[in-house]
Amino acid sequence: MIKPDAVGAGNTGAITKMIEEAGFKIVAMKKTYMSKERAGQFYAVHKERPFYEDLTNYMSSGPIVPMILEKDNAVEDFRKLIGATNPKEAAEGTIRKLFAESIEANAIHGSDSDENATIEGNFFFAEIEKF
Ligand code: ATP
Ligand code: MG
Repeated sequence: MIKPDAVGAGNTGAITKMIEEAGFKIVAMKKTYMSKERAGQFYAVHKERPFYEDLTNYMSSGPIVPMILEKDNAVEDFRKLIGATNPKEAAEGTIRKLFAESIEANAIHGSDSDENATIEGNFFFAEIEKF
């Protein structure tokens, strides 16, 4: 998911290009918006964390671009492509190094397991039965 900071800064195209050039197939993509409540559902695992309130405010602050991506070893390879959560620690050439503003407004989200990729894909693209 391209996050509100990167969509707002006009980086959707540049980021999508990097994703495709890294060998990912974009199976589904749309520009949409999460209410604060829905952002809270998406990041429910972080409910008890001190940054949860800020994070859900931020994630509902503007449009986002969720995608379903396909590739061998996709979860691990995508996390390499996006870089560390904190852009100050992200490797050169990663999406977060290039486009993230801060640890919170960090340009992009990646699923952390195949299981969560399915759950998160369904969260945004319930109309797609199989991907
Ligand atoms: P994501 O799940 O968005 O791909 P991640 O897996 O790298 O990011 P998580 O630990 O899952 O990192 O945190 C989810 C999101 O919460 C981060 O991407 C970031 O936007 C925000 N976040 C994480 N840690 C902090 C923090 N210490 N302060 C503020 N925001 C944070
Ligand atoms: Mg995460």
